[in-house]
Amino acid sequence: MHFHIITIFPEMFDSYLKESILGRATRNKIISFNFYNPRDFIKAPKNNYRPVDDKPYGGGPGMVMRAEPILKAVEASLKKIKGKKVLIINFIPSAPKFTTPFAKIFSKKYTDIILICGRYEGIDSRVEKVIKNLKFKIINLSIGDYVLTGGELPAMVLVDSISRQIPGVLGKYESLEEERVSSSEVYTRPEILKYGGKNYKVPKVLLSGNHKKIEEWKNLTKK
Ligand code: SAM
Repeated sequence: MHFHIITIFPEMFDSYLKESILGRATRNKIISFNFYNPRDFIKAPKNNYRPVDDKPYGGGPGMVMRAEPILKAVEASLKKIKGKKVLIINFIPSAPKFTTPFAKIFSKKYTDIILICGRYEGIDSRVEKVIKNLKFKIINLSIGDYVLTGGELPAMVLVDSISRQIPGVLGKYESLEEERVSSSEVYTRPEILKYGGKNYKVPKVLLSGNHKKIEEWKNLTKK
């Protein structure tokens, strides 16, 4: 899977993508990343200031990301893509919510995913219209009912969740963990945690060795 990320803040992704499971999957060439900064697609004027945003038509306090630099960044990403299984994702806080079933479908159906990270009040809505006219698949998604400062965190959330569904990204043990019934309550050593003069014990059933009872307990404590 190739992720193409359109952002004016590519450095924000550096440490997250290099570490842990995603870092390993990148080194093993199971996933890859390309970044496209819309600022790079604006001709620099004399003072070298390259605004990606402008005032909104109809008024309002925030600025809007201009369509052209984003479309040029999308074009540049499309030039790098050889296959035809391309999905373009646009982030909007009020759009349908991204969930694991989406991640499962995307991981199977597409070879390249382009993620457009909005900033300010969002991106000019004509970006979506142009992309649709060019007959590419574009969908709007949200990661939850709250407003973030930009689409970079949502992009990282999608990359992480989709990557976990790609064969070989998780190790054998991690894959088994993913498929298992998992409780939202988990415990590790010590068996009795002494803290603030009190003892906190691990639930007895987890020490019983009775796998049937343990599975039942896990189902009950699943939230
Ligand atoms: N008033 C704008 C709105 O309601 O769309 C807020 C824009 S927000 C400050 C800037 C950008 O961050 C959005 O265009 C979107 O790309 C991204 N964003 C913010 N919250 C998000 C969420 N919950 N899910 C997905 N993207 C989000």
